[in-house]
Amino acid sequence: ATPAAVIAALGRLAGTGVLIKGGSALERLAGVTAFAFDKTGTLTEGKLELGDVIPLFDVTPEGLLAAAATAEQRSEHPLARLLVREAGSRGLALATVDEFRAHPGAGVTARAEGGALVVGTRRLMEEQGVTLPPEAVAALERLDASGQTSLVVARDGVVLGALGARDTLRPEAAQVLADLRALGIRPVALLTGDRAAVARTVSEQLPVTEVHAEMLPAQKAEWVAAQKLPLPSPAFLTGRAALAGRDTVREEQRPADAPAADALATTDSQSPPVPPSPVSGGRGAAVAFVGDGINDAPALARAGVGIAIGSGTDVAAEAGDVVMMGAPLAPLPLLVKLSRETVRIIR
Ligand code: ADP
Ligand code: MG
Repeated sequence: ATPAAVIAALGRLAGTGVLIKGGSALERLAGVTAFAFDKTGTLTEGKLELGDVIPLFDVTPEGLLAAAATAEQRSEHPLARLLVREAGSRGLALATVDEFRAHPGAGVTARAEGGALVVGTRRLMEEQGVTLPPEAVAALERLDASGQTSLVVARDGVVLGALGARDTLRPEAAQVLADLRALGIRPVALLTGDRAAVARTVSEQLPVTEVHAEMLPAQKAEWVAAQKLPLPSPAFLTGRAALAGRDTVREEQRPADAPAADALATTDSQSPPVPPSPVSGGRGAAVAFVGDGINDAPALARAGVGIAIGSGTDVAAEAGDVVMMGAPLAPLPLLVKLSRETVRIIR
């Protein structure tokens, strides 16, 4: 039976743009102790602007942009849409492509008349056998230092240059995260495929408790699935820190009331750390994951509650238990409060 409390809660959410798929999602949300957020399109608007255009050797800026946009024509990633739009506004002709392949969290590869194109991260270049010349490494370091999301463009194994992009935070993001923390949610984590420097720039403006950068979609899903205990215990925190690795856990941002993971590791050395759950395991019941899709479907599916930002893809909307349209972050604290009230009334 659908309890009246659930119906009442859904009524209060009417007009907020929140779509809850089934009453059990609301019930599961009441048990959530952690929130994890994707960056691009979730904490940020996902309306990217072109940053620095850095062609190398004898490539022109237009040539670099055209090559990148050519490869990106069939990708729905915000970076791809930006590049295609910029090429269009400059009147650049794009060759047709075949053998297009999207590499989630990494970039795209495609074959065009001009040659084989690779557009994306340093890691993708490595995977595709493209060696970065020192000039490219220097360009990427400059983009990192200025907090820009960066990508490399290569044709037939040769790097043509690097491109930067900037995104703006959603205006409501900081307040929403602060409200979730006030509701006792820990951690409030940022999980991004982007570089650590960009993640840091974003997290300096937001009250997150931890940040993990350069995460592939599968790694986001693994992190989510590992958040299983209903209440964070010292052993749980220690295990999570060990799982996350030293360079990705930002201890300086832990809440003042939580002891450092290192301190816990020594004072609590009797209890073994919680081992990371196998990828084939269940859902991370304690965590809600908020993402905009494209690459986030695995994490959305593995979370206790998957919350999809509904503007983008149908993939995300299908993967989520909750879909948020409109000003997508704003209703989250109310949603958590309602879920807790609803469960209290039902029980
Ligand atoms: P986020 O976690 O911030 O949403 P993604 O996982 O979507 O980031 O992407 C991580 C990184 O992979 C991007 O910063 C970019 O460098 C690269 N990337 C992803 N998709 C593309 C694409 N279509 N074209 C070029 N680069 C891409
Ligand atoms: Mg994303």
